[in-house]
Amino acid sequence: MLESRAGAVKRARTTNQFRRVEPAMMDRLWAPWRLQYIAAPPPTAEAGVCFICRGLAEQDDRRNGIVLRTAESAVLLNRFPYNNGHLLIAPLAHKPGFSELTDPERLDCQRLIERMIDRLTAVLHPDGFNIGVNLGRVAGAGLPGHLHWHVVPRWNGDTNFMPVLADTKVISQSLESLYDLLVATVNQTR
Ligand SMILES: [Zn+2]
Repeated sequence: MLESRAGAVKRARTTNQFRRVEPAMMDRLWAPWRLQYIAAPPPTAEAGVCFICRGLAEQDDRRNGIVLRTAESAVLLNRFPYNNGHLLIAPLAHKPGFSELTDPERLDCQRLIERMIDRLTAVLHPDGFNIGVNLGRVAGAGLPGHLHWHVVPRWNGDTNFMPVLADTKVISQSLESLYDLLVATVNQTR
């Protein structure tokens, strides 16, 4: 997943094992809008303000992309989504890992993940989901101090068309309209 296509091809040519090119080229989402995030300098320790805590401390949930707050957790839009509808589920408390969570927090986060899968299914009709946590910077965590789950809707055909469409794939829905859509539906059960 982390190897570039050029790197994979070079490695395959070097090792003369062309079959190894294929796995590196498969199942990779093309998300060029993430370049803004990737190209940004890494946050310094001094600047280490947690964006989840900062948003939760403020009142303007729309500006901060906070879709829903519950007793123990919250739903936020990922501003650098891998796919349309990419959400973050986090406990309200600034805690780095699973072992720090209380049982009410665990239950609330899990219920919120399930609830948002249900809501995303209702409004965006994805074919599947990736649900995951990056623990530690080495695992890709951009915010290692505040545990959060990624909920990423997936559609048939949302990978592997980079060679065909190249730069033409754009995220199909703005974060603002997605926010409005989710807020409108988040308390519905059907
Ligand atoms: Zn935090």
